[in-house]
Amino acid sequence: MSTSSQGERSLVLIKPDAVRRGLVGEIISRFERKGLGIDALELRTIDGEFADQHYAEHVEKPFYPPLKDFMTGGPLVALVVSGDQVIEVVRGLVGATDGRRAVAGTIRGDLSLSNRENLVHASDSVDSAKREIGLWFPELG
Ligand code: ADP
Ligand code: MG
Repeated sequence: MSTSSQGERSLVLIKPDAVRRGLVGEIISRFERKGLGIDALELRTIDGEFADQHYAEHVEKPFYPPLKDFMTGGPLVALVVSGDQVIEVVRGLVGATDGRRAVAGTIRGDLSLSNRENLVHASDSVDSAKREIGLWFPELG
């Protein structure tokens, strides 16, 4: 599936908990209904080395070892979404990191009760989006 690319791009991961719980359609549908484009989409299972690259900023944090186990523990869906101010828009749709505190109406606020198994990753800046898209979808340039 592909829709026209416009504006910024963001790297989104629908994490293994969401795949396991059958929430992939629900989550993608929220991005589609918002009007975002989908420039790439793929089911993948990553190894520890790839997780370390993706989460380079967190590898030394105390929460990282269980996060790494979680992210490598099953398939996830990686996608690149596009649209006007998409990085900020997607972070808004996803909600705060801790699902217990995320506001109702957001993906995490509606569907997660966990600080770790919080369903979605989304790039947090133009620089991190560029780095993450280069890592996950180098062919997009
Ligand atoms: P976000 O995904 O909202 O950008 P961070 O970049 O701070 O959040 O953290 C990356 C991921 O690490 C989070 O989405 C979550 O899965 C996990 N995480 C962050 N903080 C904690 C924590 N205190 N305890 C457990 N897991 C955490
Ligand atoms: Mg982050």
